Amino acid sequence: MKNLLVVSCVSDDIKAPLSMYLMKNYLSEVVAGVEKYASELDADIMYLLPEGEKVEGLNGDVRYTSACSPTLTNPYSVAQVLGGNIPRPMIQDEYVAVYEDKAVSVVTPEAAYGIKNGFNDKFVAVNVGEKTEIKKATVGQIVGEVVALEGTKAVLLGGLKGTFMAPAEAAELKLEATEKFSSITVYDSSECMVDACVQLMNQAYNASCGKCVLCREGTSQFRQIVTEMTTGKAKSGDLDLIKEVSELISIGAYCPFGQNMTKPLTSAIALFPDEFDDHIKRKTCKCGKCYKAAELYYIDPDECQGCGDCIDACPEDAIEGKDGFIHIIDQDLCEQCGKCVSACDEGCIKTATKLPKLPKKKTKVGKW
Ligand code: SF4
Ligand code: SF4
Ligand code: SF4
Repeated sequence: MKNLLVVSCVSDDIKAPLSMYLMKNYLSEVVAGVEKYASELDADIMYLLPEGEKVEGLNGDVRYTSACSPTLTNPYSVAQVLGGNIPRPMIQDEYVAVYEDKAVSVVTPEAAYGIKNGFNDKFVAVNVGEKTEIKKATVGQIVGEVVALEGTKAVLLGGLKGTFMAPAEAAELKLEATEKFSSITVYDSSECMVDACVQLMNQAYNASCGKCVLCREGTSQFRQIVTEMTTGKAKSGDLDLIKEVSELISIGAYCPFGQNMTKPLTSAIALFPDEFDDHIKRKTCKCGKCYKAAELYYIDPDECQGCGDCIDACPEDAIEGKDGFIHIIDQDLCEQCGKCVSACDEGCIKTATKLPKLPKKKTKVGKW
């Protein structure tokens, strides 16, 4: 059987868009590495580019796809895309990927650059806010020399499969040639880590190819749970649930993406436990990013008559109080259903995106 070497420019992590950068800025080095590798494999060459991109002067077959997936370094997944199917990987010891009667191998532009120039150069996508800048560094250089980390809040090392770290710790790490060091995302003090995890889990859900239930359902559930943390609907057991399910996914997911995509969330929780607690237990976001759309129910302590009519209306047993005392809604239990509002003839159950000052202990009506 003949061989086919596919240069996959569609497998980048969303936080490390290196492939097209190298194709546009270091094309001769990439092509030289591709040709060297193809000659070792005795393979024909094919370039697989994102739809809408153009690269002048490529020798070999060029194909385009709208698929962009972390699985597209896997030959079987690439062969599926070339055949017009959804990209889904297979373990190569068990399957030989074949396209048009050729056995498929895959190389990324970054690996091809390394084959030509050696693996001492390291390209790093540095993400700050909405901006991404790709920097050329050297393996062994410390992260603090490549990225300005002073005064920042957190660093995500490794994109959607990465780990959150304290800036001081990240700054001392030496760059390695691995994918982990291809993406460094910097968060400043105005960033909410829970909100950051919502963005990351949304992106992880979109990147999951759907081959295995653990990854597909896991990304879906995680994005729902963290989104609920930002809208006041989180439950007290959510962090334990995330920990438990993450362990299952890291063992049971089929490919490296699924096995690692829980790390940004679990490492953010480990690094910022108080910030997650604020969102879950106290329904507050000190950065002011969350709850913009959420309506939190509370009883106005200046108006409550302590009659208790609201207690029976609450299906969650979220209202505490006794006759003659100001009643209080337990935000951990409240599901924002609104049923209590019509039970109060005084009209003192109200909503707000940020809770006002409320009694923390039993307070008699008229004593607030
Ligand atoms: S772990 Fe996720 S990305 Fe990998 S094969 Fe399973 S569903 Fe696809
Ligand atoms: S909004 Fe619903 S869950 Fe919350 S206190 Fe009122 S009745 Fe109970
Ligand atoms: S029904 Fe209204 S007035 Fe009566 S205890 Fe509840 S909130 Fe207070």
